[in-house]
Amino acid sequence: MQQTHRKTDPPQRCELLVIGAGMAGMAAALFAARRGIDTILVGESSEIIFASGLMDLMGVHPLAQKRVWHDPWAAIRRLCRDLPAHPYAHIPEAGIRRALETVFSFLESAGLRYFRRPQRNCRVLTALGSEKITYGVPRTMAAGVQVLERKKPCRIVDIQGLKGFSSRLIVRARHRSWPGLDAARIVFPGMQDRTEVYAEQMARALEVPRQREELARVLAPHVKGVAAVGMPAIFGMYHSDAVCRDLEQRLGVPLFEIPTFPPCVPGLRLKEAFERRLPELGVRLITGKRVVSADVSQSNGFAFGVGDDLAVAADAAVLASGRFLGKGLWADRRRVRESLFDLPVCQPDSRRRWHRRTFLDSRGHPLNRAGLEIDARFRPLGTGGRPVHRRLYAAGSILAHQDWMRAKCGSGLSIASAWAAVEAFIRERG
Ligand SMILES: Cc1cc2nc3c(=O)[nH]c(=O)nc-3n(C[C@H](O)[C@H](O)[C@H](O)COP(=O)(O)OP(=O)(O)OC[C@H]3O[C@@H](n4cnc5c(N)ncnc54)[C@H](O)[C@@H]3O)c2cc1C
Repeated sequence: MQQTHRKTDPPQRCELLVIGAGMAGMAAALFAARRGIDTILVGESSEIIFASGLMDLMGVHPLAQKRVWHDPWAAIRRLCRDLPAHPYAHIPEAGIRRALETVFSFLESAGLRYFRRPQRNCRVLTALGSEKITYGVPRTMAAGVQVLERKKPCRIVDIQGLKGFSSRLIVRARHRSWPGLDAARIVFPGMQDRTEVYAEQMARALEVPRQREELARVLAPHVKGVAAVGMPAIFGMYHSDAVCRDLEQRLGVPLFEIPTFPPCVPGLRLKEAFERRLPELGVRLITGKRVVSADVSQSNGFAFGVGDDLAVAADAAVLASGRFLGKGLWADRRRVRESLFDLPVCQPDSRRRWHRRTFLDSRGHPLNRAGLEIDARFRPLGTGGRPVHRRLYAAGSILAHQDWMRAKCGSGLSIASAWAAVEAFIRERG
């Protein structure tokens, strides 16, 4: 809930301030709350809503060879050997496992079940008809993992008026490798007069049983003779698992969701689940505001300004403010900078080296690895190579020496580094 204090009011006090409400910030707040730490989380509506809801752990390494790994743990071990500065190299494997399982079980308690196989990555079908490698998939996508593996007869159903999702495009992209795939189109019940329909509206509508009954009636002619039916991700907002199961029971066939283009309903579900459940664990959420100033001069803690009207005093802080999209990093004509503390950013020595010649170079662009260098306790380093502050930590995509998008490790790295930062604070605090 938003507060209405002015900065002249006494500051809100906490042990730990988490800056940023993306995957790293939400996970850090969760871990801290679970360890009994009095925590405030500040963040604007996060980039999490652009995410597909998939939980990547580690999929591709080395990038130049585009080597795809079935076992994400073996991939992480190899990565840590090859790139000792990568943030994963500072986290014990047992810690990464514990962190992930804590997040999965938290999400399950919020009604968002995830399907994963402990030692193996999954492949999912994308809205472009390509395959994406990932680790954990919302349970509403699980049947798609299974039919994709076995290339079973399957129908993709799109919805008239929904932009960016075409069943015919998906089928055309897959026709050689998956001959048993075909396409159909429906009109979403109650939206027949609209030229454009939106995934979020349909997801909210399907929370209502009557609407599911109508959708099942419209879908029924399209489910015969196939092992599963794939649809854009619209199966509910708050109870997606139950919505999917209810539709499956009505139709007598497994259904699966395919992530749509952003903003994507499974990303919204994650945001909603965290924002609903974290306060129940005691986290104080200040959403829709940014931390605008930080005073690190006090050796025992920090004083922060939040938005126009709030002050927060904290013993420690986790900076989980992301990269350029969330404005944790920004770039002028010459350099990349960290936005809040003006921390040193590890980056190529000249702008000419930010990017390679071709956009799709499989090695990725050096700029994508720019970010904060940290010590083994996830504390950002100053210019002298020493931690800037003994209780300032960093987590997530803002960290240097990683390219989460190409390596397919976005959520996994955010969650694991958030866990490591919180654990480091607990050790430091004694
Ligand atoms: C389009 C898209 C698709 C994705 N798909 C996947 C996927 O399929 N699988 C996967 O595992 N991951 C995926 N991700 C990545 C994942 O969602 C996270 O973006 C990533 O893990 C990094 O998370 P983060 O918390 O470090 O940063 P972000 O998600 O960028 O969050 C940082 C947050 O901090 C906020 N912030 C910045 N400065 C301040 C400040 N001063 N005060 C308060 N708040 C501040 C920003 O507004 C932002 O909300 C995707 C991301 C995007 C954008």
